[in-house]
Amino acid sequence: MTDVDVIVIGAGFAGLRALYTLRNMGKTVQVLEASPDLGGVWYHNGYPGARCDVESYDYSYSFSPELEQEWRWTERYATQPEILRYINHVADRFDLRQHIQFSTRMTRAAYDEAGGRWTVSAEDGRQWSGQFLMMCVGQLSTTKQPGYPGQETFQGEVIHSGVWPKHPVDLAGKRVAIIGTGSSGMQMTPVIAKEAAHLTVFQRTANYSIPAANAPVLDEEDRQVKANYRARREQALNSPTGLGFMPNKKSALEATPEEREPVYEAAWNRLGFGFALAYYDILLSKPANDTAADFIRRKIGEQINDPVLRDKLTPKNHAFAARRPSVDSGYFKAFNRPNVSLADVREAPIVEFVPEGIRTTEKLHPVDVIIYATGFDAFTGSLLKADIVGRRGLTLKQKWADGPVTQLGVAVADFPNLLIVCGPGSPSLLSNVLLSTEQQIDWLAALIGKMDRDHLLEIEATEQAEQDWVAHVNERVKATLYLSTDSYYNGAEVAGKPRVFMPYSGGVRGYRRILAQCAADGYSGFVLRPVALNSPSPAAPAAQALPA
Ligand code: NAP
Repeated sequence: MTDVDVIVIGAGFAGLRALYTLRNMGKTVQVLEASPDLGGVWYHNGYPGARCDVESYDYSYSFSPELEQEWRWTERYATQPEILRYINHVADRFDLRQHIQFSTRMTRAAYDEAGGRWTVSAEDGRQWSGQFLMMCVGQLSTTKQPGYPGQETFQGEVIHSGVWPKHPVDLAGKRVAIIGTGSSGMQMTPVIAKEAAHLTVFQRTANYSIPAANAPVLDEEDRQVKANYRARREQALNSPTGLGFMPNKKSALEATPEEREPVYEAAWNRLGFGFALAYYDILLSKPANDTAADFIRRKIGEQINDPVLRDKLTPKNHAFAARRPSVDSGYFKAFNRPNVSLADVREAPIVEFVPEGIRTTEKLHPVDVIIYATGFDAFTGSLLKADIVGRRGLTLKQKWADGPVTQLGVAVADFPNLLIVCGPGSPSLLSNVLLSTEQQIDWLAALIGKMDRDHLLEIEATEQAEQDWVAHVNERVKATLYLSTDSYYNGAEVAGKPRVFMPYSGGVRGYRRILAQCAADGYSGFVLRPVALNSPSPAAPAAQALPA
C-alpha cells in the first residue's frame, strides 16, 4: 500500500488543479483516474461539434498568469479537441503526469476511524492510504443509457455522447439517429446533418437555445484580454454565475415591450448564457420570464421554415433557463435541410430497437448508427459509483439514500477528511464550473494548510451544519423558477432518484462570502481534531472541537 497525504480521484480540470495546488503546498498527492488519459468529461465527450458554451478565456485556469499569457485560444467557444490540448499542455507545463495513475478506477474507499486515514482500493486490487480523500469526479460524468428493449439486436453501432469512442466514427452517408435534445444533442445535430445521408432527431422536450455567436479570436482581441486578464477574472468572480455577466438592474416588467426588444436583441446576438441576465428577474418571476421566453420562441420560430416543425421545436412547457438552456451553432436551421427529420417521442414513444433501427409506436425508423445524447446521472452519479465507507461502516449511498446532504457542498458528517469539489450544495453547474472548482480547491487547500499549522489531523462536518446548509440551499431556490420544472438540477433526470434540488442558486459571489465567513469563524460547522476521533493512541489528547 502506498501512503500519501492526499488521494485525489479524477484527472479532469478539478483533479489537475487540486494536484497542482496541493503539491505546491508540499503535500504528497496521488491522483487516480479511471480513463487512460487526462481530461475527465473533455476526454470522453468527443462527439462531432462538442465545444464549451462558456467563453474560452473564462473557461480556463486562473492560477498562473504565465499560463494565461502563453496559451492562445483560437475560438471564442473552444472545441473539445482544443480544450483537451489545453489540459494536456497544463499537465506537461507543470509536470503533473508523474502523480497520476491512469486506467485506475477506485472501487472502494474506507475511513479508518482509529488511524484517521482513508484506504482507497482500485479495481485491480492495488491500494493507497491517504489522510484526505478529495473527490474531483465531475457532476456530469456518469452517463444515462436508456437501454431500450432489443438494443442488443440492433445491427449498427450504439454510442453515447458522453463516452464517445476513440476509434473514428464515420457518419458520412449513414442514416443516423440522435436521441435527446439537450446541449449535447443540439451541438452535434448541425454538424452530423452535414455529413449523414439522413439524420433523425428524437425529441422528448423542446429546449431553449441562444446562438453561440462563435468566432475566431483575432490577435487584437487576444492582446486586449491578456492585457486586462486580472480585471476580467475579478469581474467573473464578482458576477452571479462566474461568467462575468452583470445582471441588468432593471426588471423586465418595468420596461415596455418596445424598450425590451433592443435589450433582448443585443443579448440574443452576443451574450449566450448571459441572456438570462438581460433583466435581473428573468429567473425570479414568471411574468418577467415570459417576456424573455416569448422573444426566444419568436427567434427560434424565425429559423424554421416548416410550420409543423416550428411548432414542435419551440419550447412551451417550461420557463426559460429553469432547466439548462443550450448555446447552439445552427441547431434549428439544420431542420430546414431535406435530410433532417424530427421524431417526437412524446407523441410516438420509442418501443424498441430492432436490427434495422428504432421502432416507435408510429413506425420503424431505419438507421445505421444510434447516438444517445440522453445526458447523465447528474451531481451524485459519479460520487456514488464506488463504495465510500465512513464511520461505523456507513456508506455514502446509505447516507444519501434520500438525497445528498453536505456542509457547503464540500464535506459530509460521518465522512471525516472526505473533501468534495463542486459537490451537491455548491454553485457548480449553476456557475462557470471551472471558476467554482478553483474557488473551492483554494478554500480546501487553505483549510488543509491551517490544519497543518495547528497540528490537526481530522476535519468533519457536523450534522447540524449539514441540515442548516441544505435548508439554506432549499430556501434560496424558492425565490427562483428552478423548481417550476423537472430537470437534472432536481433529480428528475433519473427514474427513482430522490427529488432534491442539488446546486446552490445563491451565486458564486454569495457562496464565496459564505466560505470566507466560515473560515473566519474558525471553520464553523466543522469539527477539527488533533487526532482521529477514535484514535487508540494513549498519548492522544481527548477528541475535542477546536476553535480556530
Ligand atoms: P441533458 O441536458 O440531460 O439532455 C438529455 C436529453 O436527452 C434531453 O433532451 C432529454 O429529454 C433526453 N432524454 C433523456 N432520456 C431520454 C429517453 N429515455 N428518451 C428520449 N429522450 C431522452 O444532457 P446533455 O445534452 O448531454 O447535456 C448535459 C449537460 O452537459 C448540459 O446541460 C451541460 O451542462 C453539459 N454540456 C455542456 C456542453 C458545453 O459546454 N458545450 C455541451 C454538452 C453538455 P428531457 O428533456 O425530456 O428529459
